[in-house]
Amino acid sequence: MTDSNGNTSVKEREIRYIDTTPPVITFDSSYTAIELGTSYSVGFTAYDIKDGDLTEHVIITGNADIEKIGIYTLTYIVSDFSGNITSVERNIYVYEKQADLDSLKPTGKIVYLTFDDGPSSHTSRLLDILDKYNVKVTFFVNGKNIAYFYNVGKAYQKGHSIGNHTYSHNYSKIYSSVDNFYSDLNYNGELIYQQTGVYTKLIRFPGGSSNTVSIKYNKGIMSTLVHSVSSKGYKYFDWNVSSGDVGKNSNRNSVYNNVINGLKKRNISIVLQHDTKGFTVDAVEEIILWGLANGYTFLPLDLSSPTCHHGVKN
Ligand SMILES: [Zn+2]
Repeated sequence: MTDSNGNTSVKEREIRYIDTTPPVITFDSSYTAIELGTSYSVGFTAYDIKDGDLTEHVIITGNADIEKIGIYTLTYIVSDFSGNITSVERNIYVYEKQADLDSLKPTGKIVYLTFDDGPSSHTSRLLDILDKYNVKVTFFVNGKNIAYFYNVGKAYQKGHSIGNHTYSHNYSKIYSSVDNFYSDLNYNGELIYQQTGVYTKLIRFPGGSSNTVSIKYNKGIMSTLVHSVSSKGYKYFDWNVSSGDVGKNSNRNSVYNNVINGLKKRNISIVLQHDTKGFTVDAVEEIILWGLANGYTFLPLDLSSPTCHHGVKN
């Protein structure tokens, strides 16, 4: 439209797209592990629904000292061109791989990771994770997944401890009588011997020494067994940290949190996990990193280790 003075006005309808969605920062992995003294890079991208790739606009605050073990938190911040800001914290674990057992000098806190009810289809993957950090653990094995039993020999060769968790783990059988307990235990002991060439003296009672399920099958049997196994030269181990991995809603994160919270509370931890659970194995690497970054030492159980007894309830 033009008026008599020649001024033109143009009515314009502008269509604006109001961007209220902040960009998303995506990392290559959920945490970063750096071996002491080595360099690191964290792979990430930043993407905004309107502005596209914003990776080059990300600002990183904080620093990880690669010369000092510890857990360092870096913050990644990015803004899109509409001013929507995203900020993400990220853990960097600077760790030192453990020395071989014969030259290990534990100074701080000790963690005995123990894995029950295996071996299973997840055990081989677990052994690879442990190798990476030279961490040795204890497997309380049974014969439920006999097709994977060869992992007992493999684990033993790598320096892990093998304990006997009975062959059947069947409460109604093993706790029906002292004789039945020993025939099941001894059968498993022979299988372990075939794998390792050693008769292990380390045991863990299915359900722990404090189990009450055994009352159903033989009242008082646990009181008898705890003395009986000791007189036969066995040493039994309960646990003082539970991963809770047999719980209904347990998952990788609950296992990680339960174990870390348990380790924080004591100087010597015997941790109960099950390598029959894939998510338990998923949590192991970050648990080890947390421990190594905080100066913990991981050891396998042996006859001279401290033990933990819950107290018999039957
Ligand atoms: Zn068990």
